[in-house]
Amino acid sequence: MINLSKVRTRMPEQDPQVRTRNFEEVATGYTEEMAVREALRCLKCREHPCMTSGCPIHNDIPAFIEKITEGAFEEAYQILTKTTSLPAVCGRVCPQYLQCEGKCVRGEKGRAVAIGALERFVADWHRHHAAETEAESAPKKAAKAAVVGSGPAGLACAGELAKQGYDVTLFDKENLPGGVLSYGIPEFRLPGEILQKELENLREAGVKFETGKALGKDFTIDSLMADGYKTVFVGNGAGKSYRLGIPGQELSGVLPASAFLYDVNCNQKYPSAGTFAVIGGGNVAMDACRAAIRCPEAKKVYVVYRRSVAEMPADPAELHEAEAEGIEFLYLTGPLEVIGEDGKVKGLKCQKMELTEPDASGRRKPVPVKGSEFELDVDCIIEAIGSESDNACVDGVERSDRGLIIADAETLATSRPGVYAGGDTVTGPKTVIAAMGAGRRAAAAMASYMEGKE
Ligand code: SF4
Ligand code: SF4
Repeated sequence: MINLSKVRTRMPEQDPQVRTRNFEEVATGYTEEMAVREALRCLKCREHPCMTSGCPIHNDIPAFIEKITEGAFEEAYQILTKTTSLPAVCGRVCPQYLQCEGKCVRGEKGRAVAIGALERFVADWHRHHAAETEAESAPKKAAKAAVVGSGPAGLACAGELAKQGYDVTLFDKENLPGGVLSYGIPEFRLPGEILQKELENLREAGVKFETGKALGKDFTIDSLMADGYKTVFVGNGAGKSYRLGIPGQELSGVLPASAFLYDVNCNQKYPSAGTFAVIGGGNVAMDACRAAIRCPEAKKVYVVYRRSVAEMPADPAELHEAEAEGIEFLYLTGPLEVIGEDGKVKGLKCQKMELTEPDASGRRKPVPVKGSEFELDVDCIIEAIGSESDNACVDGVERSDRGLIIADAETLATSRPGVYAGGDTVTGPKTVIAAMGAGRRAAAAMASYMEGKE
């Protein structure tokens, strides 16, 4: 039986008026009945483009969805965990519209199957029923592997190596493991307890965690090798926010998005501000503006973006959620200067922009409109205009002019034998799932290396 509805089964969520006053998860998840109803929309296509060209880690989407239709939720989970160690995370934070769901055949005439929501359902179901099932463990191997950075790339790499029985230690400079999943993605999109459970699964699989230890300060690649680690994976992420580069950016109340989100997520520390301006149009800007509106003193949040909504790189679903939460978007608006008083932010001077005709590459450039300057009264400004990797601490590996680690596209091997790198530290900022895919590919190459096959 196939559910021929063109409309997908809606996931219940908190009312926008209520959710802007708390940090709890916005979407509350499918019930079993909803999950089966949505799973029945899958056509089990022979070509299954959702899996082959949509999902970067090639989850067996038709197979796990079929198990849902049978009510065999644990079996669905076991299918997923053959290719992913973090299904509860991916089901929540993957940009599915660009990946699996973007390729779903049902999307050609109606809405794509809600693959992400189903993945989340299966992972949550397993979490609530985990006591009833037993995890399989591979025979232990003596070879030691170090993974530096516990973001999505590092977690995927460590999970995969542990699954194969290797002795894996995961190092992170922060006290809280998880990298961007811990400090960058707000609680209302990825509750901390979900990540904690995924981390616990890794601990149970044998991964050791060494947190509060920074590469280049507390240890080096050389010292890891001297300590008997046969191979090292570096997944440093890209946590250093770009600054605006306009006058006044040093004033108190101007915060890089990474610092703002870190404080909100990890320290429950909120700026003492009523009106916020978030600069940028990507997914970090969406997380920042939606976190800002939830801050205890927040009354008004603007997003200031230089181009129009058509060029905005943010996930349309996140944009829609932000609009529903009352965020005001100022498109075609560029920041000029931060205005201060007594060392603190008092306002933001902006100017209107217009877009040029498309150039040879099809890109329309924003240019200022003369005489269009105006001031916004704000007391906190959050810079969400991109980020970069800080790889100066990685000893003995070749880096590009942009400071990114150079690694083989397939094996993720760096210029230093035994050292592998993947995720944002190699590609610059990309998605969580792209980083996880890199971590998994590196784990396969590292296993071969430890077996002396490379
Ligand atoms: Fe889709 Fe991400 Fe799951 Fe792959 S991992 S199936 S892209 S939600
Ligand atoms: Fe099912 Fe869509 Fe994948 Fe086809 S493309 S197998 S309908 S999820």
